[in-house]
Amino acid sequence: MSIVLVVNSGSSSIKYQILDMADESVLGRGLVERIGGAAGLATHIGPLGTSRREAVIASHTAGFEAVLDACASRGPDLGAIPLAAVGHRVVQGGARFRGPTVIDTTVEAAIEDLSPLAPLHNPPNLVGIRAATAAFPRVPQVAVFDTAFHHTMPPEAFTYAIESALAETHGIRRYGFHGTSHKYVSEQAAAFLGQPLDRVNTIVLHIGNGASACAVQGGVSIDTSMGMTPLEGLVMGTRSGDLDPAILIHLQRRAGLDVDALDDLLNRRSGLLGLAGNSDMRDIEAAAAQGDGRARLALDVSCHRLRHYVGAYYAQLGHVDAIAFTAGVGENSAGVRAKTLTGLERLGIAIDAQRNGEPSSGAWRISTDASDVAVLVVPTNEELEIARQTLAALTMA
Ligand code: ADP
Repeated sequence: MSIVLVVNSGSSSIKYQILDMADESVLGRGLVERIGGAAGLATHIGPLGTSRREAVIASHTAGFEAVLDACASRGPDLGAIPLAAVGHRVVQGGARFRGPTVIDTTVEAAIEDLSPLAPLHNPPNLVGIRAATAAFPRVPQVAVFDTAFHHTMPPEAFTYAIESALAETHGIRRYGFHGTSHKYVSEQAAAFLGQPLDRVNTIVLHIGNGASACAVQGGVSIDTSMGMTPLEGLVMGTRSGDLDPAILIHLQRRAGLDVDALDDLLNRRSGLLGLAGNSDMRDIEAAAAQGDGRARLALDVSCHRLRHYVGAYYAQLGHVDAIAFTAGVGENSAGVRAKTLTGLERLGIAIDAQRNGEPSSGAWRISTDASDVAVLVVPTNEELEIARQTLAALTMA
């Protein structure tokens, strides 16, 4: 029993991967999207080929039926092979969940209780858990939380300086996100350097549509840029990242924006999109290269913020062995990597322009041989990490 189904359930989609953990190979993967919409779409890649089915997919339960159908026709047939477990990505685990957890009714209720802290994420994660439980009633379901890796942050890193009683009542503190990726990438970085994990300090820069930085000390998260929600920190595709909180008060008073309008502004109309009218870093870089001033500013602001966190986490860690870039932008944009770290030789950080410009498969080093800090590009693999943690939860349970 080594097969794990990894599920990332969003409000209108189910992204999944089937892994054989005997050798950590991917047996199949797919995406069910536009659930609840007029035209649903299920795409799947399996050992027998790919499938693409357009049909109304009314609910997540119907979505899992589409997954089972696709697996039956293109493999691996989940009706015929035994699943060890289903591993679910759950965004918000609050202060309670410190590691992967086998789901029972109490855990399900706790994930529901945490929904006010992640209203866009936990409810669809829960819908996915319930639909998967219906589809695979005898298979253990495991929750792997984005927040869990950061439970090691000390109080001075996770506490906001506001009235403590109010913060306590409403669960206001920094939780951090992307933990699955930060854990995986920091472990890969230590392995790349051939050093034991507990001796390596790494700054991980996860830059995708969502983006966060993490200071990892000997395998343990001690600080991260996302906060109570995934809005704080770096400039993202459509999210603002850090701002002066008084801006919200000002916009409410002066521009008449209500709570929903502010939520929409900061989460969906800010970041690269707000600055340059486009949330895709490839387009931003192409436009900046053509001399588009807004795109150039968006790039400048993004890299300035990245550099700001590199400096902050350098100081928090005291000694840095590696800086690891990961996710869509981090793995692919030599321009963002160079702009973020150029001119930091006094900190022992020296990028090799040629290495930076030559993509490779797997992790690679983009710093010079003389650079004290190894600058690495490390492809993330959140699905594999979720599958590993899912099996680990079964052995712990
Ligand atoms: P998500 O957070 O949705 O998982 P990804 O990690 O897939 O996001 O990252 C998406 C981002 O990566 C997009 O902004 C995309 O433009 C960017 N990206 C992908 N390939 C490249 C590339 N070759 N150069 C620059 N940016 C890229």
